[in-house]
Amino acid sequence: MKKVLATLATLTLAATSALAAYPDKPITIVVPFAAGGPTDKVARDFAEAMRKPMGGATLVVENVGGAGGTLGAGKVAKAAPDGYTLLLFHIGMATTPTMYRKLNYKVLDDFEYLGLINDVPMTLVGRKTLPANTYPELAKWLQENKGKINLANAGQGSASHLCGLMFQAAVQIDMTTVPYKGTAPAMNDLLGGQVDIMCDQTTNTTGQIAGGAIKAYAVSTTKRVNTPVLAKLPTLDESGMKGFNVSIFHGLYAPKGTPADVLAKLNAALKEALKDPEFIKRQEGLGAVVVTDSRLNPAEHKKFVASEIDKWGAVIKAAGQYAD
Ligand code: ASP
Repeated sequence: MKKVLATLATLTLAATSALAAYPDKPITIVVPFAAGGPTDKVARDFAEAMRKPMGGATLVVENVGGAGGTLGAGKVAKAAPDGYTLLLFHIGMATTPTMYRKLNYKVLDDFEYLGLINDVPMTLVGRKTLPANTYPELAKWLQENKGKINLANAGQGSASHLCGLMFQAAVQIDMTTVPYKGTAPAMNDLLGGQVDIMCDQTTNTTGQIAGGAIKAYAVSTTKRVNTPVLAKLPTLDESGMKGFNVSIFHGLYAPKGTPADVLAKLNAALKEALKDPEFIKRQEGLGAVVVTDSRLNPAEHKKFVASEIDKWGAVIKAAGQYAD
C-alpha cells in the first residue's frame, strides 16, 4: 500500500511539474496557407505578441498550405494534444465543413477553441495593367471581357474563394478561377499580370496598394475601412451590390484533449497578446480589427464559429459549391 501511495505521489508530482513547466520547448503555430500571405502575416505578428505573456516562449509558424486550408487544419486535428501544436485558421473553419464532402476532421468536435484574434475586411484588387482605375470602370471592363477574366484565389473554402464566388454572383459574370496554396503566391501572379483580379484580405493588399503595385477597387464590408491607405475605397455595397458583406475572422485552436491548464494558460496569454500596443497598431494599419468582445472566450468563440458555419453553409449550398 505504502508503495502504491508513493508511486501515486510521484506521478502527481510529475504531472504538476510538467504543467508548471509548460511551455518548456517551442510551440508550433500551423498556418494552413502559404508563407507571406494575409493569415501568415497575422500569425507572425501574433506569435511575437504571445512571446511575453507565454513567459518568453518561442512560438514558430509552420506553413502547411493547400486545399483551402484543410490540409493544415487536418494536421493539427491529428497532432498530440499537448499544447505544442496549435492552429491559426480563419473563416475556413466555417466554410469547409459545408464545402468539403470528405474532410478528415470535424471542425466542432476535433479542436479546443482558444479565442478569436481579429476581424479582417477584404479588398477587390486587380493587376496594375488593367485599364480600369475605379470600380465603375472595372464593372465596364468585366462586361466587355466576359469569358476571358481570370480570378485568383487560395483554394476552395478560402476567404478569397468565398468573396470571389459572391462577387461573380453579384455581377452575374462567370470567371475562370485560378487556385493557389494561399494568396501570397496568388498575389505574385497578380503582380506579374498572369491573373486579372482577386478579392483578398487587407492584411495582404494594403502594402501593395500603398506602393501602387496593384489596383484597388472596393472593400468587401458594408462600412468603409478607415485606414490611410484604404479609406478612399468605396464599399461593394455602395457600388451597387446592396448587402455585399464579407468580413473574415482569425482564431486560435488546439487539438481536442489538450489539458485544461494548458488551454487556460494559452487563453490568458492570447487575451494579453491582443492588448499589446504594437500588435494593435500593426493590425489597425493593415485594416484588421483586434477582437475585444466575448469571442475572446473559448465557449463564445465556438458558438460564433457554429453560427458562421450556418451562415456560410447556406451561401455555399445556394451556390452549389462542393469539393472532394
Ligand atoms: N488566408 C489565405 C492566405 O493566407 C487567403 C484566403 O483565405 O483567401 O493565403
